[in-house]
Amino acid sequence: MTSTSLNDLVILTSSTKSAFLQYLRDNPNNRRVSQTDKEILIDWLTNPHKRPSSQKEFSRRNYVWKTFAWDEKTRNLVAAAKTNEAKNRMVITDDMIPDIVEIVHKGNGHAGWDATWKEVSTSYYGILRSDVIFLLKQCQICVSNPSKRPKGSAATMLSSQPVDHEALDFLNADDMQYDMSAWDVPDNEKHPSE
Ligand SMILES: [Zn+2]
Repeated sequence: MTSTSLNDLVILTSSTKSAFLQYLRDNPNNRRVSQTDKEILIDWLTNPHKRPSSQKEFSRRNYVWKTFAWDEKTRNLVAAAKTNEAKNRMVITDDMIPDIVEIVHKGNGHAGWDATWKEVSTSYYGILRSDVIFLLKQCQICVSNPSKRPKGSAATMLSSQPVDHEALDFLNADDMQYDMSAWDVPDNEKHPSE
């Protein structure tokens, strides 16, 4: 098989995906959701007989109840929007991150980091902005097409510079903008006003 149409073209190679798995191991972040995390969340949401064994777990359970929901119909775990159910975001486990980023990035016609991140963060929970950037830098289409290349990213990455300062800025911004972790119970949640 030597000929493929543009649509069938693999935009993230298997070596990109395995590099990303290594990147996840090297850069753990509790805003991502592992399979185990997901099972625990679903257990809290669907098992009425599960009892918290400590004050900490009690707070955690309340936080999970407020933050996540289990959609029985679609069998999806979602991060619940406070005001509008239509804005619920699907929870993505870390093993699914490359697939989701690929779908969104293909769907938007290889738009840049900002546009792709915006779409990803609107519809999905558990993916970091830095994950999107890591993967888009290795998109086969964007790398080989200068007009699709985000400004100051792929071009400079392909030359000799090991550190991309723009990417570092993005990493910092990510920390400020993203939701808090499901596991970090904020202080004001510990004593809810009656
Ligand atoms: Zn691309």
